[in-house]
Amino acid sequence: MRVLVVGGGGREHALVWKLAQSPRVETLFCAPGNAGIAAEAECVPIAADDLDALVRFARERRVDLTVVGPERPLTLGIVDRFADAGLRAFGPTAAAARLEGSKAFAKELLREERVPTASFDVFDDPDAALAYVRRIGAPVVVKADGLAAGKGVFICATVAEATAAVEDVMRGRRFGDAGSRVVVEELLEGEEVSFMALTDGTTVLPLATSQDHKRALDGDRGPNTGGMGAYSPAPLVTSALEARIVQEIVEPIVRGLARRGIVYTGVLYAGLMIRDGRASVLEFNVRFGDPEAQVLLVRLRSDLCELVARTCERCLAGTTIAWDARAAACVVLAAEGYPGAIETGRPIEGLDALRDWRGGVVFHAATRRVADGRVVTDGGRVLGVTALGKTVPDAVAEAYAAVGKIAWGGMHHRTDIGHRALARAAGGES
Ligand code: AMP
Repeated sequence: MRVLVVGGGGREHALVWKLAQSPRVETLFCAPGNAGIAAEAECVPIAADDLDALVRFARERRVDLTVVGPERPLTLGIVDRFADAGLRAFGPTAAAARLEGSKAFAKELLREERVPTASFDVFDDPDAALAYVRRIGAPVVVKADGLAAGKGVFICATVAEATAAVEDVMRGRRFGDAGSRVVVEELLEGEEVSFMALTDGTTVLPLATSQDHKRALDGDRGPNTGGMGAYSPAPLVTSALEARIVQEIVEPIVRGLARRGIVYTGVLYAGLMIRDGRASVLEFNVRFGDPEAQVLLVRLRSDLCELVARTCERCLAGTTIAWDARAAACVVLAAEGYPGAIETGRPIEGLDALRDWRGGVVFHAATRRVADGRVVTDGGRVLGVTALGKTVPDAVAEAYAAVGKIAWGGMHHRTDIGHRALARAAGGES
């Protein structure tokens, strides 16, 4: 099969790495890819949201199957465009991708399907949003409705902060049209987990559990980021809780969409808050998480190409997924200043020393090879050092041992990835 992966981050490197192991995959392309991906796939310089060019490329190069990594092409309707051109692409249609593209759409569906989530209201008018904020008081959460690269959520400790957030998003148009509508909701407390499932619109197949670390600094401090690390499995999610999440959250959403004429195919990701053994939905994503994909895909034993093809063909019923019993951990190495302003082009030392690393894989998230052959940084999150180990603490230790071999000017990373699982393993509280 000729397979195209769309995207160029750490998640896409993990997808390419796993797909390359499939006996069904003969040729692998990635658009646009990065320096690490180039070792396993032919990288083509097409942006992930340039749908016209991607359709043209897939036709010209007779691509049999396209796996879409990021949310933006999905919300723009890449899967619909490919289907119109007679091409097969893995992921939800634009209508189904609204689950991530519009927080108001997702929240209203959650309410209608009676799936647990924070109480909320949706506003197009800033004065009405402000009146609601004053009425319910702080703490409160303000969210831009549309895609805002993970930056559109404001956890507000005071009414003044929430007021500033509403002003900034709605009147200041900080995220443009993505903020012309906002969701204002109750703050939930507890511990977050990432729950992903494959679905073909009927069958729901849960993937292994994972937990990510969104804050930039140790101790879950500092600004929110795209994700500074992850580990799998998440010990918080017992098999009983997993069964409830499938039955009470994922299946009702997939069925609810189907009743509205929307067949959801692809990965459905629920960001959940767990408290007292019960899960509430914080958000949906319509694709693999990044860096959660890295820890899941190193643990996946089954053939990813097969799973993806079955999802697209809507024949997941009866499929099982095999996982490595070991745990995995991913430590993201970021550029100085991330998630704020960063510099790119810094040469990365130590990648050669890890080429034959047996304990894991160094996934590239934002790298570029320059004329002299050196690999340089090319974005905020640069590498995802992903290791396997008997337990989460073992995987974490293995990942940090590898991290110690990599360096560039200004490199920064968290030193406490997996701390909650480590605290649990030690029998204490985090
Ligand atoms: P979202 O993009 O909606 O998941 O929000 C990003 C992050 O904000 C989540 O991963 C949570 O850490 C946090 N968050 C969002 N909504 C809430 C809420 N209602 N209560 C507490 N934290 C929240």
